[in-house]
Amino acid sequence: MSSWWCAIHGYAVPQLDAAAHSQLGRMSHVMFGGLTHEPAVELGRRLVDLTPDALEHVFFADSGSVAVEVAMKMALQFQIARGERRTRFFTIRGGYHGDTFSPMSVTDPVGGMHSLFRGILPEHVFAPRPPGGFACASDDPAMVAWEAETRALYAVHAADIAAVIVEPVLQGAGGMNIYSPYAVSVLHSLAREHGALVIHDEIATGFHRTGPMWAADHAERLASAEPNAMAIRPPDPSGESRAVARQGVPDILCVGKALTGGYLSLAAVLCTREVAVGVSRGEAGGLMHGPTFMANPLACAIASASLDLLQENDAQGQVARINDGLTNGLAAATELACVADVRTLGAVGVIQLREPVRVADVTAAAIERGVWVRPFRDLVYTMPPYVTSDEDLTTLTAALVDAVRATHG
Ligand code: PMP
Repeated sequence: MSSWWCAIHGYAVPQLDAAAHSQLGRMSHVMFGGLTHEPAVELGRRLVDLTPDALEHVFFADSGSVAVEVAMKMALQFQIARGERRTRFFTIRGGYHGDTFSPMSVTDPVGGMHSLFRGILPEHVFAPRPPGGFACASDDPAMVAWEAETRALYAVHAADIAAVIVEPVLQGAGGMNIYSPYAVSVLHSLAREHGALVIHDEIATGFHRTGPMWAADHAERLASAEPNAMAIRPPDPSGESRAVARQGVPDILCVGKALTGGYLSLAAVLCTREVAVGVSRGEAGGLMHGPTFMANPLACAIASASLDLLQENDAQGQVARINDGLTNGLAAATELACVADVRTLGAVGVIQLREPVRVADVTAAAIERGVWVRPFRDLVYTMPPYVTSDEDLTTLTAALVDAVRATHG
């Protein structure tokens, strides 16, 4: 489980331990209001380098949920500053964005327990889940129908939508749904056409979990392979070059989880210059957020060491290798009568059952086979660390398939 998908280099990693020790010897924490420090500057620069060119500004937050809170607040402040009182967000069903109130309000309405908090949670706009998996093409009848329904729904609420928020290509805790980059491009085009921002939540998918550095990079590849499929109508004639240059690139990007290799809680929100300048020009004069542990130096120093490791260890190559192991190893599950679907993307392997998982039984059966797994709903899945050896992958996938066979038949 990589400790909920963040311990990408495994545990007790010498380079991350060394970064922590070295930073502890200098300064473990200092407030970030009115002060700055080397580890934050270094990490901020590196994140700007690692993300698409348009993303130039960084806000450090303390967890994924707070990063999503900040991203949503940024979008609202941006719209208010340009005189647009837009108060709603547009997203797709099946998402998960965190457990505090704003992220919960854009998390799947059923999985996110909106009924429990009715009247307290703001009501945002949910399009259906995109159909058909990663390879679903733009002209697939299911995709054509989804696009038409999504466009029609958006049109009803367009004037109120401050931003589209989405986990590109892989919805994690909302159901491990893998969907087509084309659907991401449709959501982008809707936002662009109607003056809304785009927020990518790559808290689960970032740092190569799905293969490329960012899950949105799948969409960029599709754009270069199939330019017409991704054509995004510019918002106005003068905006044409910007729209083309930024195909597939969000205005705001949230990262977290694997950012520190799982050592400490840290997240970051990146945004474009337009968003940063827009927010700063507003009545408040800046983003109205300042958590106590913002840009904690210890976490920042470890995060930079983790980024070094990603490069040194060829994370993308390792994830491709892991994908082969997961795809081959989990294939046997497709033959089980209780299994509805088996899917993989990058270092993510999912067995979906036809019934809710008997969690305690499957967990015990997997432990007997040497593997810790944490199923939910109808899903038994793994997101292993990138250092997982081929031998461990064989053990892992065989244990998952056998545990499902032994408990669900
Ligand atoms: N967004 C996504 C896509 C996530 O997967 C998660 C955590 N599972 C979060 C936000 C919330 O992050 P945290 O648990 O660090 O608050």
